[in-house]
Amino acid sequence: MATDYDAPRNTSDESSDDSIEELKSRREDKGGSAVDLDAEAVEGIELPGADLSGEELTVRVLPLQQDEFTCMTCFLVHHRTQLAGQDKNGQPICRDCS
Ligand SMILES: [Zn+2]
Repeated sequence: MATDYDAPRNTSDESSDDSIEELKSRREDKGGSAVDLDAEAVEGIELPGADLSGEELTVRVLPLQQDEFTCMTCFLVHHRTQLAGQDKNGQPICRDCS
């Protein structure tokens, strides 16, 4: 009886190892499908978030506050404290480009 118990235990251990490897490979497969599911879920979540990011982008696209300017040399928006002057065309130039 004892031998019978030992035999299936060893077998179960080996089978468990095999099953772990199988599970790993299966997890990879399932992981791929899980990513798809997550992507779908994320897409649903991103829809409202995309609007927010769009607003943020809009704000960034329209960043010119009265105390800000866009350097016509590097085309970066700077606070007017970074304004070094104007070029021949009267376009603002930041200190980095002056
Ligand atoms: Zn500049």
